[in-house]
Amino acid sequence: MSPRLPQGSQLHYLTPRDSELPQAGPELHLEGVSLQALAQAHHTPLFVYSKAAMLEALAAYTAGFAGRNALVCYAMKANSSLAVLQVFAQAGCGFDIVSGGELARALKAGADPEKIIFSGVGKTRAEMTQALGAGIGCFNVESLAELDVLNEIALGIGQRAPVSLRVNPDVDAKTHPYISTGLKGNKFGIGHADVVAAYEYAAACKGLRVVGIDCHIGSQIVDTAPYLDAADRMLDLVEAIETKGISIQHLDFGGGLGIDYAGDTPPKANALWAALFEKIDARGFGERKILTEPGRSLVGNAGVCLTEVLYLKPGEQKNFCIVDAAMNDLPRPAMYQAFHEIVAVQPKLDIGTTTMDVVGPVCESGDWLGRDRDLSVEAGDILAVLSAGAYSMSMASNYNTRNRAAEILVDAEVAHVIRERERTQDQWRSEHLL
Ligand SMILES: *Cc1c(COP(=O)(O)O)cnc(C)c1O
Repeated sequence: MSPRLPQGSQLHYLTPRDSELPQAGPELHLEGVSLQALAQAHHTPLFVYSKAAMLEALAAYTAGFAGRNALVCYAMKANSSLAVLQVFAQAGCGFDIVSGGELARALKAGADPEKIIFSGVGKTRAEMTQALGAGIGCFNVESLAELDVLNEIALGIGQRAPVSLRVNPDVDAKTHPYISTGLKGNKFGIGHADVVAAYEYAAACKGLRVVGIDCHIGSQIVDTAPYLDAADRMLDLVEAIETKGISIQHLDFGGGLGIDYAGDTPPKANALWAALFEKIDARGFGERKILTEPGRSLVGNAGVCLTEVLYLKPGEQKNFCIVDAAMNDLPRPAMYQAFHEIVAVQPKLDIGTTTMDVVGPVCESGDWLGRDRDLSVEAGDILAVLSAGAYSMSMASNYNTRNRAAEILVDAEVAHVIRERERTQDQWRSEHLL
């Protein structure tokens, strides 16, 4: 019996039909590529992504946007590898960036600057200058202090910076406290009560041009309701702002749509947008330009991380399965106690199942990838950590002087190396001995 695989992942177990091995069991494939073969050829830890899964996730948004004036701006912090960005740029996406580094990456991957929006509470002067120079589409501004600095910089170079204010709609996204950003007392966005005054302030700045409004209420949201509440609260604000004679051209509803990590059932993007457009139309805003900033829902289930079992370590209280991937490769369990499904690439049918914690080699108790997992594995087996396309490689670090993993992008039968495995000398390239 093969494990359940997440929705939209392009993963499937294939039993080789004319295998030479008499007892060859099922083997996990991503699109048309064997993951066992990839692990053998490129070693582990190894991230493998499916192009088809990314495009299928995007297609759910574009289906929801059919006939509308709308743009998907991929929130690239979820996975900022150049080839991943290239897939979305070629598909016509814009990008939601949060740093000057991300701006440079997006441009390198072929992004259209006019489709780039710049989010984040702490943009530096250097980043603002860089983004104005590139001609990005919009700055999503989060405070009056930031408006002042952006205004000053734009005036200094004779430009008017396009701005949207990120508003805090103060809805309860019923999600994890670490990643819920639409609530009062959160560092993100301008408080609901202060928004109209902030727009009047922005409209009076000669270096700024008000173009939109935005919100982003959280992440891994699996219900439609918080989006509808936030939309209502945001459209109330648009009405109030426009009574002051300030026109809002685009409405940006942020990202945050969840994925299937452990049987989660978030709405499909087209269903979410059908519900949102019903509200937007009913309130008379159906002709406005609409933006969304999905990250996780475009890439999360398009990727896996392959890792080799190094040692099995049975214990009195717990059994440990020690693997060669760690919290520096897959930080979400250590950071958010997040769950990633972990499956054997070639499930063993002839050995018993043991309940184990899957842990990495890093010297931290927090270095675990999965707890109390039932696995039938031996040293040398390859495991796949699923739903690892988002907030994994982009959050990877060199802790313990571990080299960051290689990355492969699978397209049907073809496996493209999109990032070489880092070498130790790459890590100290910019260091100096005394
Ligand atoms: C992180 C982030 C997103 C993307 O969130 P996902 O949960 O990955 O969809 C979108 N907009 C902003 C402002 C963000 O900070």
